[in-house]
Amino acid sequence: MKTTLQQFLDTQKANHLYRARAVVDSPQAAELLIDGKSYLNFCSNDYLGHANHPKLAEAFINGVRQYGVGSGASHLISGHSRAHHELEEALAAFVGRPRALLFSTGYMANLGVISALLNKGDHVFEDRINHASLLDGGLLSQARLQRYLHADARDLLNKLGASKAQTKLVASDGVFSMDGDLAPVKALASAAQRHNAWLMIDDAHGLGVVGERGRGVLELLSITNAEVPILVGTLGKAFGTFGAFVAGNDDLIETLIQKARSYIYTTALPPAIAVATLASLRLIDDEAWRRDRLRENVRLFRELASQAKIPLSDSETAIQPVILGDVEPTLQVSHGLKQQGILVTAIRPPTVPQGTARLRITMSAEHTSAQITRLIETLHTLGVGQ
Ligand SMILES: *Cc1c(COP(=O)(O)O)cnc(C)c1O
Repeated sequence: MKTTLQQFLDTQKANHLYRARAVVDSPQAAELLIDGKSYLNFCSNDYLGHANHPKLAEAFINGVRQYGVGSGASHLISGHSRAHHELEEALAAFVGRPRALLFSTGYMANLGVISALLNKGDHVFEDRINHASLLDGGLLSQARLQRYLHADARDLLNKLGASKAQTKLVASDGVFSMDGDLAPVKALASAAQRHNAWLMIDDAHGLGVVGERGRGVLELLSITNAEVPILVGTLGKAFGTFGAFVAGNDDLIETLIQKARSYIYTTALPPAIAVATLASLRLIDDEAWRRDRLRENVRLFRELASQAKIPLSDSETAIQPVILGDVEPTLQVSHGLKQQGILVTAIRPPTVPQGTARLRITMSAEHTSAQITRLIETLHTLGVGQ
């Protein structure tokens, strides 16, 4: 007799949905070492090459010298170090808001915010392809969760108009994590304001990279703080470290400190991570050339892909998905790339909607044009775009 777990695992395998991990033996970089072999890395979120930047590594080590390794407790007990505190002030200044609050991960930030602000009887509206953590936050809050059509402010407006709830919250990715396109934040804000709803933007893939100064989608689209009262950012992507933050006004942050369970009941990040993240914030301003290089790489990728008739998505960001549709061919191309020494993960349902399996290709400031050319040529020999 097979156990239910064995049955589940067999079904995942039969449907090509079984997930497995690669064991990496090198730092994050344009090339990764896996099982003694070097691979071109086109699937990391380390868009600027901060994750193994010597200045971050040095700051991290200095942080360990000053604070040791573990934080020892949650922020509300004895784990809130001077380094955490300074990072919160620096993050608030970085995004131009009164306050910021550190969370241990972006997943926990989204769970914490939505469940702290909403209760049973309230109403949360989410883009249907929002990151899983925003959707899970909505479920955890016990508010009514309603998804609107992707990037469709008109659909949102209709749904808001039909709601009788006292407290309403609209939540959206800023840059969509699997598609790379931008939320129509201006239109979402106007819909939210018309119906007296909070608007929360999770700019995990925009902060650090999008906008002239790397202040994310809100900078790029000239959005005011009043239009988006709640901004979430993660530190494990462009910033190259770990953790997340929520930025907003004093009342929001103080409410989260009192109520957000994923903030209260968890150990604070290692303080050295905060020290390294402070160094990363400085680099966002001091090494603006990394954003230029990334933009140039994205432009080159799109130009070469379009010449090779590789199907591109409507994205100007570092996330450049090639949507192939069915799971099997997508996996085949991903495996073929791996055999040729190129790492690109196949993203399958339920991470993306049925019928939209894709290669989630991500660009980094660290890629050379030769590496990008090699990716395109290899995709071409594997039959993509023919
Ligand atoms: C990665 C991601 C998160 C989760 O952040 P972690 O710090 O990795 O937990 C949240 N939201 C979005 C949009 C993301 O892409």
